[in-house]
Amino acid sequence: MKRTHHCNELRPAHIGQTVTLTGWVHSRRDLGGLIFIDVRDREGRTQTVFDPSDLPKELFERAAALRSECVIRATGKVRQRPEGTNNPKIPTGEVEVMAKELEVLNVADVLPFPVDDPEVASKVNEELRLKYRYLDLRRPEMARNLRLRSKVAIATRQYMDEQGFLEIETPTLFKSTPEGAREFLVPSRVNPGQFYALPQSPQQFKQILMVGGVERYFQLARCYRDEDLRADRQPEFTQVDIEMSFIEREDIYALIEGLLKRVWKTALNLDVPTPFKRISFEEALNRWGIDKPDTRFGMELVDFTEEFRASKFKVFSGAVAAGGVVKALNAKGLAGATQGQIETMTEYAKSFGAKGLAFIKVEGGEWKSPIVKFFSDTEKAALAQKLKIEEGDLILFAADQWLNACEILGKIRLYCADVLKGQGKLAIPADRFDFLWVVDFPLLSFDKEQNRWYSSHHPFTAPVAEDVALLKTDPKKVRGQHYDVVVNGVELGGGSIRIHQPDVQKTVFEEVLQIPPEETKLRFGYMLEAFRYGAPPHGGIALGFDRLCAILCGTPSIRDVIAFPKTAKGTDLMTDSPAAVSPRQLRDLHIEVKAAKKE
Ligand code: ASP
Repeated sequence: MKRTHHCNELRPAHIGQTVTLTGWVHSRRDLGGLIFIDVRDREGRTQTVFDPSDLPKELFERAAALRSECVIRATGKVRQRPEGTNNPKIPTGEVEVMAKELEVLNVADVLPFPVDDPEVASKVNEELRLKYRYLDLRRPEMARNLRLRSKVAIATRQYMDEQGFLEIETPTLFKSTPEGAREFLVPSRVNPGQFYALPQSPQQFKQILMVGGVERYFQLARCYRDEDLRADRQPEFTQVDIEMSFIEREDIYALIEGLLKRVWKTALNLDVPTPFKRISFEEALNRWGIDKPDTRFGMELVDFTEEFRASKFKVFSGAVAAGGVVKALNAKGLAGATQGQIETMTEYAKSFGAKGLAFIKVEGGEWKSPIVKFFSDTEKAALAQKLKIEEGDLILFAADQWLNACEILGKIRLYCADVLKGQGKLAIPADRFDFLWVVDFPLLSFDKEQNRWYSSHHPFTAPVAEDVALLKTDPKKVRGQHYDVVVNGVELGGGSIRIHQPDVQKTVFEEVLQIPPEETKLRFGYMLEAFRYGAPPHGGIALGFDRLCAILCGTPSIRDVIAFPKTAKGTDLMTDSPAAVSPRQLRDLHIEVKAAKKE
């Protein structure tokens, strides 16, 4: 069964050698009486040639009957390809193998979609790709993605080991902790009526490991969230999960910068400069309108609150009077925005509760806008100067409470960048990676509907030391020791220094988050207890491993770096899961199902 070489190995130096290749029939061409078969394995492909004048009839006919994706073993002599027939697109393109033997190891049915033509394959509908994932995985792009993912996982393990971390598995049968995302429940057969939950992250176990004296833990951890899936989410996903003791934020920054440097070098042979920039949450919102800014291009938000405080234009001065701000951005070169594009941007503004979107198109030397007539000369001069307004620009405004105004323009900024990219007016090199840390997040956010505070990150995040006293008096001012690592506008991961004092943790649960004491005890009692027996100061982080691999592979979808991903509806089209189970299984699990009636 053995091959002598893989299909990406043969070069002119092998000419004259007799070799054996194994793999799949990538393509077959019949030309001038000869049959050309490209044999493909996971490394690449090599052309084999079947010449009827040189082969027993039966063998030649066997080759002639081969269909795409049949599995074969072929033996023959390597030779130089005839003059003018080299294929510079593949590394083995200077040679070919003159077949002498052919064994068909398995036949293949007609394929539901071709795997040999990247042009065609990229247009195959994703449902079909997922149903026949094993075929999809044979495509060189997917094979490359899986290989890169494996390399990144191994580099991560090596680096973490060098840094003194232990790889420790935590349970996937955990307990329900209704906080944040919805959980998957697993019924217990031997404990009737009781359920495990699949963990949303190993957060609690990893903190307990610190109490257990482990000091440095990591894991490539599978996590589960039963959320309504947004475009690029998966119900199960992988995190590089990390926790360490006796540290401060700086230690995590240095550790992760080193890890990402290693990973980028391994995967892309790129040198990532460190340390990364640090940007406060407030600055990120002020300048880019988002807490995970893409800093590869400008179009920054500019503040005009003071300039419009006393403006005749009531929409602006009114917003300021109500404690809000006026902000604007200059989408350079986008004055020609279509009605549809302006409407899309207006919808963004409205989704944040704004009434509309104010804008100015600078065209033909004129400021075209229904609102300019309300602006004073001083106001206009301030706009022109601070936004560097020129012919062809599109100026967009938001006048609202600070966070809203920032977020509206933040979304619009990204949208404008996409439009400009589409028009070829904004070019970002594919190998440019802008890493940064976002820090100083508010510890708490306010839920207006429920009229209570909730943790911006999670309830175990420690407040910044100077702000602890404000917890009970002015919670909105408390900054958390939370950090996110961001690249090119994508949140790669986040973490925090944790609360390790049981009394502070109890205050956060009960007084700040207002979880009733009985519930705190039920849900987190074991943690509070553990913290009473000598919990070291500790902190950690988790990086989204699928997202990380997607960025390295240059694909927008994490499904392209997961071997068997689920659809947006959480289904696995290949195995047809989830599925109903037998009444007997249900009975054993003490479960009765009220099946939703099919319409
Ligand atoms: N457990 C957190 C998460 O999954 C990360 C952390 O704080 O380490 O987002």
